[in-house]
Amino acid sequence: MAEYFLTVDLGGTQIRAALCDAEGHIHRRANELTRAAEGRAAVIRRIKETMAKALGDVPSSRVRGIGIAAPGPLDPKRGIIIFAPNLHDWHNVPLRQIIQDHFGIPTFLGNDANLAALGEQRFGAGRGVHNLIYITVSTGIGGGIICDDRLLLGEGGFAAEIGHHTIKADGPRCNCGNVGCLEMYASGPAIARMAREAITSGERSLLQDMSQGDLEQITGKMVYEAALKEDPLAIEVLRRAGQYLGVGIVNLLHLFNPAMIIIGGSVAKAGDFLFQPMWEIIRQRSHPSYWEDLRIVPPELGDDVGLLGALALVLSEVQERTQVL
Ligand SMILES: [Zn+2]
Repeated sequence: MAEYFLTVDLGGTQIRAALCDAEGHIHRRANELTRAAEGRAAVIRRIKETMAKALGDVPSSRVRGIGIAAPGPLDPKRGIIIFAPNLHDWHNVPLRQIIQDHFGIPTFLGNDANLAALGEQRFGAGRGVHNLIYITVSTGIGGGIICDDRLLLGEGGFAAEIGHHTIKADGPRCNCGNVGCLEMYASGPAIARMAREAITSGERSLLQDMSQGDLEQITGKMVYEAALKEDPLAIEVLRRAGQYLGVGIVNLLHLFNPAMIIIGGSVAKAGDFLFQPMWEIIRQRSHPSYWEDLRIVPPELGDDVGLLGALALVLSEVQERTQVL
């Protein structure tokens, strides 16, 4: 009889759930709006309802495990969401236990960027790759590192915060408490900030018209649109962001020596405006043995990355347990 897995991707906007098989096929889906403003209890109730819809009429005895992808910071070992900036009133929530008690099925929890790395390795761009790094570049920068076929978690599960490693020791202060984080130089808001700073210091740009003179309205997307119109300042800002991304990747190459780096997220849509300067820095600043065979590629799983990443987590946990037994 077929075995199933139930996975859920908890986001600030949407809760997505899926009934999957071990090969990564999704048999049934269910989506709901998170409506985080209604508070923690309402969101937890909605997670259970969405999962129940995805489960449908399949008896829970045929479900081998549940995987949850959630925003961090979280403790994957104890299954606790420590704090979730996009959800209201979420502090130290033992979500794994809550879901496991409700469905009576072994449940596992992971941070969404970490699980994206696992999902892409098992079902997406990274199939067959033993050392890979996943980076998502959008409003923030998140990451997941697979080193010698193991997802790197660290003692408390907080490893692989690629967005918060220091690029410039005297850079601007980040929300995380550090200064000069990669996220302060290559995320969407960072690109917008660098464009604003250049305009404030007297440089001219199409962005002044595009934002109708209100520089606070400038977004990373707007900078990309200006670059497509060949605005020199926008192109220069994206070039700098790409160089900083390259600096961050050089650090990662030296630390982890990956065979593949998967870069996703909305900022990655800027394509060669970012990637060309990024590659220049990589080639200038690291030995060819690090990058001669390095592949830097887009993700393949699209919106399903959380669901399939959570599936990859359950599969790895279930297989490990079976080996122990
Ligand atoms: Zn930071």
